[in-house]
Amino acid sequence: MNWRIPLADIDFGPEEAAAVQKVVASKWLTMGAVTQEFEQTFANFTGAKYALSVTNATAALHMACLALGIRPGDEVIVPSLTFVATANAVRYVGATPVFADVSSDNDLNISPDDIEKQITPKTRAIIVVHYAGYPCDMPRILEIAAKHNLKVIEDNAHGVGATLHGRQLGTWGEIGCFSFFSNKNMTTGEGGMLTTDSEELYEKLRIFRSHGMTTLTWDRHKGHAWSYDVVDLGYNYRIDEIRAALGLEQLKKLSRNNARRAELTKLYRDTMHELAPEVTIPFSNHPGKASHHILPALLPKNIERVKVMEHLKSQGIQTSIHYPPVHSFTAYSGLAKGIQLPWTDDIARREITLPLYPTMANEQVICVVQEIRSVLGSSQ
Ligand SMILES: *Cc1c(COP(=O)(O)O)cnc(C)c1O
Repeated sequence: MNWRIPLADIDFGPEEAAAVQKVVASKWLTMGAVTQEFEQTFANFTGAKYALSVTNATAALHMACLALGIRPGDEVIVPSLTFVATANAVRYVGATPVFADVSSDNDLNISPDDIEKQITPKTRAIIVVHYAGYPCDMPRILEIAAKHNLKVIEDNAHGVGATLHGRQLGTWGEIGCFSFFSNKNMTTGEGGMLTTDSEELYEKLRIFRSHGMTTLTWDRHKGHAWSYDVVDLGYNYRIDEIRAALGLEQLKKLSRNNARRAELTKLYRDTMHELAPEVTIPFSNHPGKASHHILPALLPKNIERVKVMEHLKSQGIQTSIHYPPVHSFTAYSGLAKGIQLPWTDDIARREITLPLYPTMANEQVICVVQEIRSVLGSSQ
C-alpha cells in the first residue's frame, strides 16, 4: 500500500549510508570498536553508568528478568496495555505476569494504585512501560517497590530521550530496556540497549548476551585473551557493527527529532481541540518531557473505530491500534481469567493511533484531523 501519510517514517540520510559503508570496508562486522563507541555514547547520553547493546528490546527484557533472578513461581506486575513482548519476557524465565490497569483515559501508563493492589507474597518485580514515551510516575512506583522489596524494570521501548524531573527514562529502575526497531524514535532496523547503574548487573548481562562466555572474540582479536570459560547458560543476543554504526548516527538526530515530534503533537492537540473536540488526545499536561513516540487518540464511545480507520485508509492515511491488550490474546487466556482492567478495556476499544514522524509536515497533521472531522460528521 502506497500511503499518502504513513503511520511512521524513518529519518535516514547519507550519514547512515556512509557509516554503514565504513563498517563494510573495515571487514570487522560484529562486537568491535563501533559497538563499544555506541554503548559508551548511549551511556553518556542517558546518564546511565553502563549501557549494553543487544539484538532487540525483547532480548533486553528477557535478559533483565534473568539478571534480576526472576524464576518459576515468581510474579511480575506488568501493564496489559503494551506490546506483548513486555509480558512474554516474564514467561521466558518461567515466571507469571500479573496485569495491572492503567491510570485513566488521560494517563495510559500503569497505575501505581493498581500495582499496589496486585502485590502478593510471590511478587518479585514490576515492569513499567512509558506509553508513547510519557513518563510513568516513577517516584511513586520506586517507593512502592522499596516498601515491598521489588525490582523495577523499565520497558523504555518508546521513551528514548524522554525525561522526568530531568532524569532520563530507562535510568530510574534497576534496568532499562530500549528498542531500536524500525518504527521506534531511533532505529537500527533490529536492535536494543540495556542500561543499568549496577556493575554486578552489568557483568551478568554481558555474560548472558554472549553464550555465558567470560571473554569475547573481540578481546581475543585484540590479544587480551587466549581462551574462555562458560559460567552460565547464556544466549546469543549480540548486535553487530553495522547496526551500531546506524545507532550512532540516529542518536545524533534524536533530540532534534524528538523536539519535532513534540511540535507535531502540540499541533495535533490544538487542531483536534478546534475541529473535533469529541476526540481526545491522552497525556494532556503530563509531567516530564516525553519522547512522543506515537500519537494515540480516543474516539467517542458511540463511534465505530473500524469505520474511522477505513475512511482514513481510503484517503491514504495509515493508522494503527496501541494496543490490543495482552490479556485479550489467546496465548494469555489462561492468565486472563477473572481479571478486571476497566480502563485498559475501555481504552483498547476506543484508541486509534494517528501518523507521527519527525519528517511529517504541519499540513499533513491538519489533513489527518480534517479527515477525522469529516468521517465523524459535522453535527456537534
Ligand atoms: C517495540 C516494543 C518492544 C519490543 O522491541 P523489539 O526491539 O522489537 O524487540 C517491547 N515493548 C514495547 C512497549 C515496544 O513498543
